[in-house]
Amino acid sequence: ADYIPILTETPSDLFGVVIVTKDGKVYSAGDVDYQFSIQSVSKPFTAALVMTQQGPAVLKEKIGVEPTGMAFNSKLALAVYENSVNPLVNAGAIAAVSLVQATSEQERSNKVQQNLSDFAGRPLAVLEKVYESEYSTAFGNRGIANLLYNWGRLYSDPEEALRVYTRECSVGVSAKDLGMMGATLANGGVNPLTKKQVMPAKHVPELLAVMATAGFYDESGDWMFTAGLPAKTGVGGGIVAVVPGRFAIAAFSPRLNEAGNSVRSLKAIRDIAGEL
Ligand code: GLN
Repeated sequence: ADYIPILTETPSDLFGVVIVTKDGKVYSAGDVDYQFSIQSVSKPFTAALVMTQQGPAVLKEKIGVEPTGMAFNSKLALAVYENSVNPLVNAGAIAAVSLVQATSEQERSNKVQQNLSDFAGRPLAVLEKVYESEYSTAFGNRGIANLLYNWGRLYSDPEEALRVYTRECSVGVSAKDLGMMGATLANGGVNPLTKKQVMPAKHVPELLAVMATAGFYDESGDWMFTAGLPAKTGVGGGIVAVVPGRFAIAAFSPRLNEAGNSVRSLKAIRDIAGEL
Protein backbone atom coordinates (compact mmCIF):
# COMPACT_ATOMS: atom_id res chain seq x y z
CA ALA A 1 0.00 0.00 0.00
CA ASP A 2 2.29 2.73 -1.24
CA TYR A 3 -0.12 5.55 -0.32
CA ILE A 4 1.15 4.93 3.24
CA PRO A 5 4.82 5.58 2.42
CA ILE A 6 6.39 3.49 5.21
CA LEU A 7 4.53 0.33 4.20
CA THR A 8 6.64 0.15 1.04
CA GLU A 9 9.59 -0.73 3.32
CA THR A 10 8.03 -4.00 4.54
CA PRO A 11 9.84 -7.05 3.08
CA SER A 12 7.42 -8.40 0.46
CA ASP A 13 8.19 -12.09 0.91
CA LEU A 14 7.02 -12.46 4.50
CA PHE A 15 4.25 -15.02 4.84
CA GLY A 16 2.60 -16.63 7.83
CA VAL A 17 -0.61 -18.50 8.44
CA VAL A 18 -2.25 -19.59 11.67
CA ILE A 19 -5.33 -21.36 12.96
CA VAL A 20 -6.51 -20.62 16.49
CA THR A 21 -9.30 -22.78 17.88
CA LYS A 22 -12.02 -21.50 20.20
CA ASP A 23 -10.21 -23.13 23.13
CA GLY A 24 -6.95 -21.40 22.22
CA LYS A 25 -4.96 -24.13 20.44
CA VAL A 26 -2.59 -22.59 17.89
CA TYR A 27 -1.49 -24.26 14.63
CA SER A 28 0.92 -22.12 12.66
CA ALA A 29 3.45 -21.97 9.83
CA GLY A 30 5.81 -19.26 8.59
CA ASP A 31 6.20 -15.67 9.79
CA VAL A 32 3.43 -15.70 12.38
CA ASP A 33 5.25 -13.53 14.97
CA TYR A 34 6.27 -10.68 12.64
CA GLN A 35 4.67 -7.38 13.75
CA PHE A 36 2.83 -5.41 11.09
CA SER A 37 0.15 -2.71 11.25
CA ILE A 38 -3.35 -4.03 11.73
CA GLN A 39 -4.91 -1.41 9.42
CA SER A 40 -8.51 -2.22 8.50
CA VAL A 41 -8.57 -5.52 10.37
CA SER A 42 -9.12 -3.27 13.41
CA LYS A 43 -12.46 -2.07 12.03
CA PRO A 44 -14.82 -4.91 13.04
CA PHE A 45 -13.36 -4.94 16.54
CA THR A 46 -14.11 -1.25 17.05
CA ALA A 47 -17.59 -1.82 15.61
CA ALA A 48 -17.90 -4.51 18.28
CA LEU A 49 -16.98 -1.94 20.93
CA VAL A 50 -19.67 0.44 19.69
CA MET A 51 -22.23 -2.39 19.86
CA THR A 52 -21.03 -3.40 23.31
CA GLN A 53 -21.38 0.15 24.61
CA GLN A 54 -24.54 1.26 22.79
CA GLY A 55 -26.17 -1.73 21.07
CA PRO A 56 -26.52 -2.76 17.43
CA ALA A 57 -29.28 -0.24 16.62
CA VAL A 58 -26.82 2.63 17.12
CA LEU A 59 -24.35 0.98 14.74
CA LYS A 60 -27.07 0.49 12.12
CA GLU A 61 -28.67 3.92 12.42
CA LYS A 62 -25.69 6.18 13.07
CA ILE A 63 -23.25 4.48 10.68
CA GLY A 64 -25.12 1.95 8.50
CA VAL A 65 -24.59 -1.70 7.56
CA GLU A 66 -24.94 -1.69 3.77
CA PRO A 67 -22.04 -3.01 1.69
CA THR A 68 -20.99 -0.20 -0.65
CA GLY A 69 -19.52 -2.38 -3.40
CA MET A 70 -16.84 0.27 -3.79
CA ALA A 71 -13.22 0.76 -2.70
CA PHE A 72 -12.54 1.07 1.02
CA ASN A 73 -11.54 4.72 0.70
CA SER A 74 -14.15 5.67 -1.91
CA LYS A 75 -15.47 9.21 -1.72
CA LEU A 76 -18.07 8.31 -4.34
CA ALA A 77 -19.53 5.64 -2.05
CA LEU A 78 -19.87 8.32 0.55
CA ALA A 79 -21.82 10.54 -1.81
CA VAL A 80 -24.08 7.74 -3.05
CA TYR A 81 -24.69 6.28 0.39
CA GLU A 82 -24.73 9.61 2.20
CA ASN A 83 -26.78 8.18 5.02
CA SER A 84 -25.54 4.64 5.04
CA VAL A 85 -22.07 3.22 4.79
CA ASN A 86 -20.80 0.43 7.03
CA PRO A 87 -18.20 0.26 9.79
CA LEU A 88 -15.73 -1.72 7.65
CA VAL A 89 -14.98 0.99 5.07
CA ASN A 90 -12.98 4.07 6.04
CA ALA A 91 -16.00 6.39 6.35
CA GLY A 92 -17.87 4.07 8.68
CA ALA A 93 -14.76 3.20 10.66
CA ILE A 94 -13.94 6.86 11.27
CA ALA A 95 -17.58 7.33 12.38
CA ALA A 96 -17.22 4.28 14.67
CA VAL A 97 -14.30 5.75 16.61
CA SER A 98 -16.27 9.00 16.91
CA LEU A 99 -19.08 7.03 18.59
CA VAL A 100 -16.86 5.45 21.25
CA GLN A 101 -17.93 6.98 24.56
CA ALA A 102 -15.12 9.23 25.83
CA THR A 103 -14.59 12.70 27.26
CA SER A 104 -11.17 13.32 25.69
CA GLU A 105 -9.14 12.23 22.67
CA GLN A 106 -6.73 10.36 24.94
CA GLU A 107 -9.57 8.42 26.55
CA ARG A 108 -11.11 7.63 23.15
CA SER A 109 -7.81 6.35 21.82
CA ASN A 110 -7.10 4.34 24.98
CA LYS A 111 -10.51 2.66 24.86
CA VAL A 112 -10.10 1.72 21.21
CA GLN A 113 -6.63 0.27 21.83
CA GLN A 114 -7.61 -1.48 25.03
CA ASN A 115 -10.48 -3.14 23.19
CA LEU A 116 -8.13 -4.43 20.45
CA SER A 117 -5.80 -5.72 23.19
CA ASP A 118 -8.69 -7.46 24.94
CA PHE A 119 -9.59 -9.27 21.71
CA ALA A 120 -5.93 -10.29 21.22
CA GLY A 121 -5.48 -11.31 24.86
CA ARG A 122 -2.26 -9.29 25.24
CA PRO A 123 -1.35 -5.57 25.31
CA LEU A 124 -0.94 -4.22 21.77
CA ALA A 125 0.99 -1.02 20.97
CA VAL A 126 0.87 1.57 18.20
CA LEU A 127 3.70 1.41 15.64
CA GLU A 128 4.48 5.13 15.89
CA LYS A 129 6.37 5.32 12.58
CA VAL A 130 3.37 3.87 10.75
CA TYR A 131 1.10 6.37 12.50
CA GLU A 132 3.33 9.34 11.54
CA SER A 133 3.57 8.11 7.96
CA GLU A 134 -0.17 7.69 7.53
CA TYR A 135 -1.32 10.76 9.50
CA SER A 136 1.02 13.07 7.58
CA THR A 137 -0.48 11.88 4.27
CA ALA A 138 -4.12 11.34 5.35
CA PHE A 139 -5.69 13.97 3.09
CA GLY A 140 -8.33 11.61 1.68
CA ASN A 141 -9.46 10.35 5.09
CA ARG A 142 -9.47 13.94 6.39
CA GLY A 143 -11.84 14.83 3.56
CA ILE A 144 -14.07 11.88 4.43
CA ALA A 145 -14.15 12.85 8.12
CA ASN A 146 -15.08 16.43 7.31
CA LEU A 147 -17.82 15.44 4.86
CA LEU A 148 -19.35 13.08 7.43
CA TYR A 149 -19.24 15.82 10.05
CA ASN A 150 -20.90 18.23 7.64
CA TRP A 151 -23.74 15.73 7.17
CA GLY A 152 -24.14 15.13 10.90
CA ARG A 153 -22.80 11.58 10.49
CA LEU A 154 -19.64 12.01 12.59
CA TYR A 155 -20.04 12.31 16.35
CA SER A 156 -16.82 13.93 17.59
CA ASP A 157 -14.43 16.58 16.35
CA PRO A 158 -13.40 15.38 12.85
CA GLU A 159 -9.64 15.81 13.33
CA GLU A 160 -9.84 13.93 16.62
CA ALA A 161 -11.71 11.08 14.93
CA LEU A 162 -9.13 11.04 12.12
CA ARG A 163 -6.24 10.80 14.61
CA VAL A 164 -7.87 8.08 16.73
CA TYR A 165 -8.79 6.13 13.59
CA THR A 166 -5.26 6.44 12.16
CA ARG A 167 -3.80 5.30 15.50
CA GLU A 168 -6.03 2.24 15.61
CA CYS A 169 -4.90 1.34 12.07
CA SER A 170 -1.26 1.66 13.20
CA VAL A 171 -1.54 -0.84 16.05
CA GLY A 172 1.09 -3.57 15.69
CA VAL A 173 -0.08 -7.18 15.51
CA SER A 174 1.24 -10.55 14.38
CA ALA A 175 -0.71 -13.14 12.40
CA LYS A 176 -1.00 -15.03 15.68
CA ASP A 177 -2.64 -11.98 17.31
CA LEU A 178 -5.15 -11.76 14.46
CA GLY A 179 -5.86 -15.47 14.90
CA MET A 180 -6.54 -14.95 18.59
CA MET A 181 -8.80 -11.95 17.86
CA GLY A 182 -10.76 -14.06 15.38
CA ALA A 183 -10.90 -16.98 17.80
CA THR A 184 -12.50 -14.63 20.34
CA LEU A 185 -15.31 -14.07 17.83
CA ALA A 186 -15.49 -17.82 17.09
CA ASN A 187 -15.81 -18.34 20.84
CA GLY A 188 -18.88 -16.12 21.33
CA GLY A 189 -16.87 -13.03 22.31
CA VAL A 190 -14.81 -14.74 25.03
CA ASN A 191 -11.01 -14.56 24.59
CA PRO A 192 -9.70 -18.16 24.66
CA LEU A 193 -6.61 -17.22 26.72
CA THR A 194 -7.81 -14.64 29.22
CA LYS A 195 -11.43 -15.92 29.34
CA LYS A 196 -12.58 -12.30 29.29
CA GLN A 197 -16.01 -11.67 27.73
CA VAL A 198 -14.87 -8.95 25.35
CA MET A 199 -18.22 -8.44 23.63
CA PRO A 200 -21.70 -9.85 24.32
CA ALA A 201 -22.19 -13.24 22.64
CA LYS A 202 -25.57 -12.12 21.32
CA HIS A 203 -23.98 -9.43 19.12
CA VAL A 204 -21.33 -11.65 17.52
CA PRO A 205 -23.71 -12.78 14.72
CA GLU A 206 -24.48 -9.15 13.81
CA LEU A 207 -20.77 -8.36 13.59
CA LEU A 208 -20.05 -11.48 11.51
CA ALA A 209 -22.89 -10.49 9.17
CA VAL A 210 -21.19 -7.19 8.38
CA MET A 211 -17.86 -9.01 7.93
CA ALA A 212 -19.54 -11.46 5.55
CA THR A 213 -21.06 -8.73 3.40
CA ALA A 214 -18.30 -6.09 3.50
CA GLY A 215 -15.06 -7.58 4.90
CA PHE A 216 -13.32 -7.66 1.51
CA TYR A 217 -14.67 -4.30 0.26
CA ASP A 218 -15.56 -4.47 -3.44
CA GLU A 219 -14.36 -8.10 -3.53
CA SER A 220 -16.70 -9.26 -0.78
CA GLY A 221 -19.03 -11.11 -3.15
CA ASP A 222 -16.16 -12.99 -4.76
CA TRP A 223 -14.73 -13.89 -1.35
CA MET A 224 -18.03 -15.21 0.00
CA PHE A 225 -18.68 -17.10 -3.23
CA THR A 226 -15.33 -18.88 -3.07
CA ALA A 227 -14.45 -19.03 0.65
CA GLY A 228 -17.78 -18.59 2.41
CA LEU A 229 -16.44 -17.22 5.69
CA PRO A 230 -16.93 -13.86 7.42
CA ALA A 231 -13.53 -12.20 7.31
CA LYS A 232 -11.67 -8.89 7.41
CA THR A 233 -8.65 -7.71 5.49
CA GLY A 234 -6.20 -4.82 5.93
CA VAL A 235 -3.67 -3.09 3.68
CA GLY A 236 -0.91 -4.12 6.11
CA GLY A 237 -1.30 -7.59 4.56
CA GLY A 238 -3.31 -9.25 7.33
CA ILE A 239 -6.58 -11.15 7.00
CA VAL A 240 -8.65 -12.94 9.63
CA ALA A 241 -11.54 -15.30 8.83
CA VAL A 242 -13.93 -16.76 11.38
CA VAL A 243 -15.55 -20.20 11.46
CA PRO A 244 -18.26 -19.42 14.03
CA GLY A 245 -18.24 -21.68 17.05
CA ARG A 246 -15.02 -23.41 15.98
CA PHE A 247 -11.86 -21.48 15.06
CA ALA A 248 -10.28 -18.59 13.19
CA ILE A 249 -7.80 -18.68 10.30
CA ALA A 250 -5.46 -15.69 9.99
CA ALA A 251 -2.68 -14.95 7.54
CA PHE A 252 -0.14 -12.24 6.75
CA SER A 253 1.59 -11.46 3.46
CA PRO A 254 2.32 -7.87 2.36
CA ARG A 255 1.59 -8.00 -1.39
CA LEU A 256 -1.91 -6.71 -2.22
CA ASN A 257 -4.27 -6.95 -5.17
CA GLU A 258 -6.19 -4.02 -6.68
CA ALA A 259 -8.84 -4.09 -3.96
CA GLY A 260 -6.17 -3.79 -1.26
CA ASN A 261 -6.48 -7.41 -0.12
CA SER A 262 -3.41 -9.60 0.57
CA VAL A 263 -3.05 -12.03 -2.34
CA ARG A 264 -1.32 -14.93 -0.59
CA SER A 265 -3.27 -14.51 2.63
CA LEU A 266 -6.60 -14.75 0.87
CA LYS A 267 -5.53 -17.77 -1.17
CA ALA A 268 -4.07 -19.55 1.87
CA ILE A 269 -7.18 -18.98 3.98
CA ARG A 270 -9.47 -20.01 1.15
CA ASP A 271 -7.52 -23.21 0.53
CA ILE A 272 -7.34 -24.14 4.21
CA ALA A 273 -11.05 -23.42 4.69
CA GLY A 274 -11.76 -25.69 1.72
CA GLU A 275 -9.57 -28.49 3.09
CA LEU A 276 -11.19 -28.33 6.52
N1 GLN B 1 -5.48 3.00 7.42
C1 GLN B 1 -5.88 2.58 6.09
C2 GLN B 1 -6.66 3.69 5.42
O1 GLN B 1 -7.35 4.43 6.09
C3 GLN B 1 -6.72 1.34 6.21
C4 GLN B 1 -7.17 0.82 4.87
C5 GLN B 1 -7.22 -0.67 4.76
O2 GLN B 1 -6.58 -1.41 5.49
N2 GLN B 1 -7.97 -1.12 3.78
O3 GLN B 1 -6.60 3.87 4.23
